[in-house]
Order: sequence, then structure tokens, then C-alpha cells
Amino acid sequence: MFNSTEVPKEQWAQVIEKTGGPVNYKKIPVPTPGSDEVLINIKYSGVCHTDLHAMNGDWPLPTKMPLVGGHEGAGIVVARGDLVKDVELGDYVGIKWLNGSCLSCSYCQQADESLCPDALLSGYTVDGSFQQYAIGKAAHVARIPKECSLEAVSPILCAGLTVYKALKESGARPGQQVAIVGAGGGLGSLAIQYAKAMGIHTISIDGGEEKGQMCRELGSEDYIDFTTTKNVVQAVKNATPDGFGPQAVIVLAVSEGPFQQASEYVRSHGTIVCVGLPANAYLKAPVFDTVVRMIQIKGSYVGNRRDTAEAIDFFRRGLIKAPYKVVGLSKLQEVFDLMKAGKIAGRYVVDTSK
Ligand code: NAD
Ligand code: ZN
Repeated sequence: MFNSTEVPKEQWAQVIEKTGGPVNYKKIPVPTPGSDEVLINIKYSGVCHTDLHAMNGDWPLPTKMPLVGGHEGAGIVVARGDLVKDVELGDYVGIKWLNGSCLSCSYCQQADESLCPDALLSGYTVDGSFQQYAIGKAAHVARIPKECSLEAVSPILCAGLTVYKALKESGARPGQQVAIVGAGGGLGSLAIQYAKAMGIHTISIDGGEEKGQMCRELGSEDYIDFTTTKNVVQAVKNATPDGFGPQAVIVLAVSEGPFQQASEYVRSHGTIVCVGLPANAYLKAPVFDTVVRMIQIKGSYVGNRRDTAEAIDFFRRGLIKAPYKVVGLSKLQEVFDLMKAGKIAGRYVVDTSK
């Protein structure tokens, strides 16, 4: 293993000891990378709603325990295993949701690595980025150009990548309209910016005036407040020039209702892309409408290494600027409390030095 000299034996981390939480801010040992892995000094990590789902045990997939969460970690390579040849000490890299995959199954062969049955998930099945030193498989760590700010790029590593991929999956073309449900959250704010950069117009749906103002500033033509609008379906249709509804809907919300509602306002021959992962939720759509209006309903799950590179490149070009607030890693539980209450406009990023 090649090591830079300044790697300490101990580090600060936020550790979940039992499902349901809370997170405990404490010192734990710095891990040692295996032969195909790198050790990253994480400087900043975005906080994704997935991290809250993981702590709460919301999904039918067990987490490791105890667990260090986090999967939007941006930092600097400080050690690497013997087999790693294409990542250098000092490189900027990112820990993303997909920490590793087998690289040889039929999914990995066709770059559908998020579908790999042996995928390692950061902050879920392996420890993630809510610590000062994290391990990533060298083949999978995101390559971050040196001109990128590590704090600003961190939310791109999951939120940005995921919405960029979802927009591609929606099939929406430049000049068409896409409704973003949950537009005021971390993924939503980035979805508005990626859509804008791709020439796609957005109709934002979320709750409260603070999020409304942010969505408009980010470039969304319309904002529909689901907490005060009597007829959301009609309001979304009214926001399209012919009243037929948007070409696609990207559903990022953390409750079940909007997943059912989307088929009522999506344009005929349009596409609903499901991205949000609320606990115990089911999709329900009328068969008649789905058939005669030719509606597509599909899921979209993060993105592959190429999607990651493209999403980061949009950011590097200065096309993606979404608001984020930076707080110390020690304040992670407070971020989770705000997130649970739906009170975060944009993203929180934690600074691992505080
Ligand atoms: P977030 O908490 O930042 O944002 C969620 C937003 O949804 C909030 O602004 C909230 O007000 C809004 N919302 C809630 N109910 C709504 C409703 N009825 N109508 C409109 N808006 C509503 O969360 P996030 O970090 O952006 O994550 C969103 C979801 O996406 C989570 O479930 C997360 O686990 C999931 N996710 C999925 C993938 C994937 O690959 N599919 C990747 C990352 C995150
Ligand atoms: Zn995420």
C-alpha cells in the first residue's frame, strides 16, 4: 500500500449504532484500504434524504450496523492499494452511492453497474462519507477535476448524478416541459439546474414560499405549492401552453401521494420517472388511462460511471449552481431533524473538520 505520511490512526465520524438512530459523533479507527481500494480524506459530504432512510430502516434492504452513513463525499486520495494504478495520491475524488460492483456480471458488462447483485453501497452496506477518512473502490470513485470546489461539488455525487440520469431517462427533449415533484429539496434544486442546462423547461412542485422563491431563482418558470393549491392536477396542466400537461414528471418526493397523482397530469405519451424512495410506498395508476393515453411509468436509480463523469462536467463548466448550507459534521443530527420536517430548501453539506 502506498501511503502519504499524514494519515492518522483515529478520526471523527458520525456512527449509527442501531436502526432508528440517532447518529453518535465519536472517534473511530481510520480504515485501511484493500488492494483495489483508495483511502480518501473526506473534506465535505452532502446529506441526502437516503441517509435518513438508511438510519430509519425505511427500506426492505438491511444496512450494515454499526454504520457510518453518507454518499456524497468529496475529498483527496491519501493512500491506495497495490493494484491501483490510475488514481494518484493527491487526486480529488468522490464517494458516491455505488461504492463498488463486481465489474464482471452481465449488468456490469453493459455499464448498468447499479443493478449489479453484488454492488457495495456507501453509507448503507459499507461505511460512507460521514467520517474524515473513507474507503472507495478505485474503479468506482468519482474523478473530480482540480478546479472544482470540493464543498460545492459534493451534492453532485448523488443528487446531481441522479437527477441528470433521471432527466435522460425521461426522454424529454429541449423545448419540452418536465414537472419536478419535490423541486425544493436537494435533488429537486439540482434537477431544475440540469434541466435548464439541457434546454428543458421545468414546472416545480413543492411546499412553502421559501422553496418557491428558490425554485424560481434557479430557473423554473412555474412553482405550484402543493400545501396551498386546491387542485394540483389542474394547476400543473394549466402551466403548459396547450393545457395537456408536461412531457415528463420526475417524482422526487418522500411521500406516496405524488407518485399516484403524476399519471393524472402527465401529457399523453409522456413519461413518469420515479426517483424518490418513500417507505412502504406503492405505485397505483388506472390501467385504462395508462393504456389509452400511452403513459410510461419507470424507475431511475443513480447512474453509472459515465453518467457521473458527465454530471460532474456540467458542474465544472459552471452550468450547475444550486444553493447549499455548510455545517460541521458534528451537527449531522440537526440536519436530519430539519430534513425530516421538510424544512430544507436545497442541500446541507457537512464539513468533516468541525
Ligand atoms: P429532500 O428532503 O431534500 O427533498 C424532498 C422534497 O420533497 C422536500 O422539499 C419536500 O418538501 C418535498 N415533498 C414532500 N412531499 C411532497 C409532495 N406531496 N409534493 C411535492 N413535494 C413534496 O430529499 P432528497 O435528498 O432530495 O431525496 C429525495 C428522495 O430521492 C428520497 O426519497 C431519496 O432517498 C431519493 N433518492 C433516490 C435516488 C435514486 O437513485 N433513485 C438517489 C438519491 C435520492
Ligand atoms: Zn443520495
